[in-house]
Amino acid sequence: MTRQIERIPLRGTTPGTRREVVLRRYGVAGARPKAYVQASLHADETPALLVAHHLAHLLDQAQADGTIEGEVVLVPYANPIGLGQFVNAEQLGRYELRGGGNFNRNWPDLFPTVAETVDGKLTDSPAENVALIRAALRAALAAIAAQPVHNELLSLRLALAREAVDADMVLDLHCDEEALMYLFVTPAHWPEAHDLAAELGCQAVLLAEQSGGNSFDEAYSTPWLRLAARFPKHPIPAACLAGTVELRGQADVGDTFAEADAAALFRTLQRYGVIAGDPGPLPEPLCEATRLDACDSIKAPAAGVLSYAVELGDRVRKGDVVAWIIDPGADDPAAARRPVHAGTDGLVLSRRLHKFALPGMTIAKVVGTETLPERKGAYLLDD
Ligand SMILES: [Zn+2]
Repeated sequence: MTRQIERIPLRGTTPGTRREVVLRRYGVAGARPKAYVQASLHADETPALLVAHHLAHLLDQAQADGTIEGEVVLVPYANPIGLGQFVNAEQLGRYELRGGGNFNRNWPDLFPTVAETVDGKLTDSPAENVALIRAALRAALAAIAAQPVHNELLSLRLALAREAVDADMVLDLHCDEEALMYLFVTPAHWPEAHDLAAELGCQAVLLAEQSGGNSFDEAYSTPWLRLAARFPKHPIPAACLAGTVELRGQADVGDTFAEADAAALFRTLQRYGVIAGDPGPLPEPLCEATRLDACDSIKAPAAGVLSYAVELGDRVRKGDVVAWIIDPGADDPAAARRPVHAGTDGLVLSRRLHKFALPGMTIAKVVGTETLPERKGAYLLDD
């Protein structure tokens, strides 16, 4: 049996244009566990494209060897719309230029429909409830797809969501601007995601029940958690381990990184029973998980040139200068430099790639351990 390649044309494209999503399918449809892995939903986050290329090699081999126990769907480029958005030679892959906003926000929230569908039908069997909820999730999505789809972005979303919605594991491969390797998951999936984090060598694991933007991963992980809260008398497991993997920074693209990351993802699939075989000893984890609301998202107070006082991986104390914002037009150069301080003790996880800041822009993330008052219950993502 060989892997199957499916090409799904997007709808709502302009005349003379045809875009498609490619799915690489491994194992037997319906076999469990099912893993769904997609690359570069933010289309200008290139590291994931190269990781998916290497992962495809490994999965092709596993398929040839007959070691795929469950099912794997690999989407080697999740966003053909953004991939083609070049404006004056710059690739703008984070927001849809037609006006659809951030590609990784506002995914359809299936929870309300599913809660209504399963109300009164849940049992005392976790396995029965999982099957019931998966069927309801698929039906909720099918109801959206049954409406006329004139919009290319919605067409893309439905094509990806259809494959992720009933998976046991969803890995959405992104990257930051300049960053160390890190992972977002819900607290309900910790420590379940421990082996994934250890394999990838994550230097931060950021936990949030709901970060606020209905990102791709949370569209599949959180319905289970919200259903469990809504129907506390019935056992409802957190049956979809969905996470966003940040594969370092945008410029960290190369076969050395990508081959190792793909091998780590492959071993992860072995550890979670999707692929047979011995993944070998688990690498020593590089971090503890911390709450996303303890991660300081440091904002630029003014426009200006950004000069960092810290490197990635540095440990800072609250109040330390992280960067200087320099007003190139200041009358007195001595007064042109404005310090920006860390709001917590912690690890410098990310910085901006481009070193000119606008007011309110996130210029660095520092991973702390104590929830920050201004982050508690707040919208936690950077748009
Ligand atoms: Zn991203």
